[in-house]
Amino acid sequence: MDHSATSPVAPEVLEAMLPYFTEVYGNASSLHSFGREAREALEAAREKVAGLIGARPEEIYFTSGGTESDNMSLKGIALKNRERGRHIITSSIEHPAILEVCHKLEGQGFEVTYLPVDREGLVSPADVEEALRDDTILVSIMHANNEIGTIQPIQEIGKLAAERDVYLHTDAVQTAGKIPVDVDRLGVDLLSISAHKLYGPKGIGALYVRKGTRMESITQGGGHEGGLRSGTENVPGAVGLARAAELAEEIMQPEMERLTALRDRLGEFVLENIPDSWINGHPVRRLPGNLNLGFARVEGESLLLFLDMKGIAVSTGSACSSRKLEASHVLRSLGLPPLMCHGSLRITMGRSNTSEDVDYLQSSLLEAVERFRSISAR
Ligand SMILES: *Cc1c(COP(=O)(O)O)cnc(C)c1O
Repeated sequence: MDHSATSPVAPEVLEAMLPYFTEVYGNASSLHSFGREAREALEAAREKVAGLIGARPEEIYFTSGGTESDNMSLKGIALKNRERGRHIITSSIEHPAILEVCHKLEGQGFEVTYLPVDREGLVSPADVEEALRDDTILVSIMHANNEIGTIQPIQEIGKLAAERDVYLHTDAVQTAGKIPVDVDRLGVDLLSISAHKLYGPKGIGALYVRKGTRMESITQGGGHEGGLRSGTENVPGAVGLARAAELAEEIMQPEMERLTALRDRLGEFVLENIPDSWINGHPVRRLPGNLNLGFARVEGESLLLFLDMKGIAVSTGSACSSRKLEASHVLRSLGLPPLMCHGSLRITMGRSNTSEDVDYLQSSLLEAVERFRSISAR
């Protein structure tokens, strides 16, 4: 129940990838037939990934994952457009792959506005409008948050950015393959995807870049991927991402409905049966499998370790920051008092989770909260 941290490679994905390690291992840049065969697989993969998000194949660039796609977007736009302006708008609840790049750019003469979110984790389009300036070159707002699951009004923000001729990037790592994502509907110019969050392999992702977008490459070398991302192409990875995208599209609708029902059942159970508990994030504008729970007078870490002993994997804060003792930047941005940030649990359900899993989690959670509260009350 920690699918937002990563997901297993689907058997169909592994099967599609295997020949590209051993039989079709050519370098996609080689001119001989071995290379051409790899190139064909790579281009077929590009077409499938484009299909998942309503893009054209030539607008898809393979990368090593979400982190690299985010870095390329921000640095690539900043470097190329610095003569036009040095102002960037983002939100305070972005993934570190955005926030840390923004901090770095601030040290290099750029100015960044970090928009707040409301109690449910939403960025307000009105705030975006107010923050837009003549020297704004880029807005980067994630499609859905990895901790609290809140889905942002990207379409509205896209209209505002387009009116002002400002580039819009969205980190869609948590949404691609989970809910419908269409680059034209959203009105984005750049969009990040990672394979391992959608039942593909780790170490491969993609960046969508709308045709005509002015950006610089941050990786110099042999000029692969249209010169934007040098480095011998990861053909098995690209084939895996493409197969994962196809599968995700096929089962998206029923899987969304199934996970939403499991999520809501779990949420209702907790609110009804565990006193002083609440849900972090938006009640309905959230990822189907995501439930972020808060419990007063219990440490999230204690609950996590107790559930782990029962064979249940969940996270607290976020997977990346759980080693730090302070509450996650996302929970703090919701305006929760610090004490309300500590007893948080992120449950992210996925393909393998069943109704029985939810029953088991419910009884284990009930037991865990009661136990830790009775200890702390003594
Ligand atoms: C996981 C994640 C990333 C990073 O992707 P990697 O492929 O692991 O580098 C970026 N953004 C969000 C929202 C994520 O959940």
